[in-house]
Parts: sequence; structure tokens; C-alpha cells
Amino acid sequence: MSVIEIKGVKKYFTKEVYALKHIDLLINEGEMVSLIGPSGSGKSTLMRHISGLLLADKNSQSSIRVLGKTIQSKGKLDKDIRTSRAQIGHVFQQFNLVNRLSVLTNVMVGGLSRIPSYRSLLGWFTAEEKRLALQALDRVGLKNVALKRACDLSGGQQQRVAIARALMQKANVILADEPIASLDPESSRLVMQTLKDINEKDGITVVVTLHQVDYAQKYCQRAVALQDGAVFFDEQINQLNQHKLNQLYGTQAVHSFSEDTVSSSNGMNMSNGMPYSQDGTANTEEDHSQPRSLIN
Ligand code: ADP
Ligand code: MG
Repeated sequence: MSVIEIKGVKKYFTKEVYALKHIDLLINEGEMVSLIGPSGSGKSTLMRHISGLLLADKNSQSSIRVLGKTIQSKGKLDKDIRTSRAQIGHVFQQFNLVNRLSVLTNVMVGGLSRIPSYRSLLGWFTAEEKRLALQALDRVGLKNVALKRACDLSGGQQQRVAIARALMQKANVILADEPIASLDPESSRLVMQTLKDINEKDGITVVVTLHQVDYAQKYCQRAVALQDGAVFFDEQINQLNQHKLNQLYGTQAVHSFSEDTVSSSNGMNMSNGMPYSQDGTANTEEDHSQPRSLIN
């Protein structure tokens, strides 16, 4: 069954500036899909369309459905968007936690669509909500830091709290936009492993945009590559090779490609030239990870 159905999505920000030319894409239940492609190819824009944070062009015959519910159609949000959006969890590069609040409260806030707003404003949560939040934190290996302030955690831990928040939300689909772009290799590994774990054990469908192709190879089954606002290839991860990546990234240099996988699966010897260092320090891409436009 397709959990995410994207048909004919076009997005022009202005007459000249387009982000998506025409996207058709189906993502099935339980898949863990990486969305890759050069900076500016439209990955974040597509993710925001999936959750209805951005609307496709009105004059297109587009539609996006998630878990059988329409998110947007022909550039208009569905009237039940709040219910549909509640099933979609977001994880961003910058974590989006409230720094001064405890880790536990940050996770409980994930259940907001089910909690009356006066209670959340006052910080009143029930014992059951606390139990569920602790369970979600346990799931990502962070129960022991539940009472710390979010800002006292490392970047990798904060990102796992963001994943716990999506679990608390009872999301069936998680959209993670560059979740490891600002993390060191060990934290990146833990965050990706956490996403893989909830994908495999909880059956949550995960779409993750990644700069580092070797992480896509290691943790995802399928790679959808965008180039210039269109799907350039959509393949099982073991079909990827350096030639395709060179075509995809072009002048953005040779992209990271795991030598391990290359030598074992293709028997070829390839260099690991990386425009984006795995510790995130050389990642100078413009940050599009925060929603610029919130349409309610
Ligand atoms: P990626 O996530 O693959 O790096 P984006 O989806 O952020 O790419 O951007 C795709 C294209 O759309 C880029 O050319 C970018 O500059 C442009 N773009 C993205 N958001 C906006 C916006 N709010 N207004 C104008 N142009 C935008
Ligand atoms: Mg992006």
C-alpha cells in the first residue's frame, strides 16, 4: 500500500524560480527512503509539500495524499489537514526543541494535537502522558536524561528527542530533513540507527533527506534522487553506483560513496571525495531546514 502518493506536483516560487518541476512519487508502507540530490534540487521543498507546509502551484493538477488522506490537491490544502498532519512527524536539521524546557516536556508537547491547548499552555500533563513520553524516550535510549533541559543535551541527543517527540505524536510517517547535517559521525550513526529501528520495529514509514550518500546506503533501502526539481532516479539502494552519483551531483563534486559497499557490491575502487564532511563542519549549504511558510 502506498503511504505517500505524490502526483503532478509543481512549485514555482516566482515566474522564474522553480523548486519542483513535476514530481510523481509513491512511497510504500514501512519503507525507509532516502531523498538525495544536490543542494537546491528541491528536497526540502518536496518534504514541506508532503506535510502541507507548502502548497503546490494552483494551476497544476497536483495531489498529495498521506496514509490515504488528502493533504493538498490542485494547490489547496485539504480541510481536514490538522488530522492528517497529526500523523506526520517532522525531524529537522536544527532539532526545533524548546531549549529551556525539560526533555520530557519537549516530548509531551509532541502529543499536542491530542492535548487541549489550555493544558499544554499551563504545562499540565497527565500521568499517562508522562508515561508515554518516558516510553518514547526509552525507545530512543534517552530515558535517563528526561529531566535535563533540552539545551544541555548534545546535538545528537537533541535529535533523538525530536524523534521521540514524533513517536509521542503517534506519527505513522516521519519526514526527516537533513537530520544529521550538523552532527558528528558517531551522533549521526546513532540518529540514523534510531530512525531505522523505529522503521523496522514500529513499521513507521521514514523519508529522510541526506547529503551523505554513504548513510543512505547504510540505512535505507531505496534512494530517490532529485535534480533540478525533478526525479532523476528512483532505485533500490544497491543499484546506486558512482557513475549515477557523478551524473546526479555534477559540478557539486564527487559525492560521498562508501568504499566498503562499493568494493563489496561492485568490486570497484572509488575515492571518497566529500563536499560535505561527516562532522558537518564543511556543510556550507544554505539552511532551508526551517519551514519558511506555514500555511494553516
Ligand atoms: P534542497 O533542499 O534540495 O537543497 P530546496 O527545496 O531548499 O532544495 O530549494 C529548491 C529551490 O527552490 C532552490 O533553488 C531554492 O533556492 C528555492 N527555494 C526554496 N525555498 C524558497 C522560497 N521560500 N522562496 C524562493 N525560493 C525558494
Ligand atoms: Mg534542503
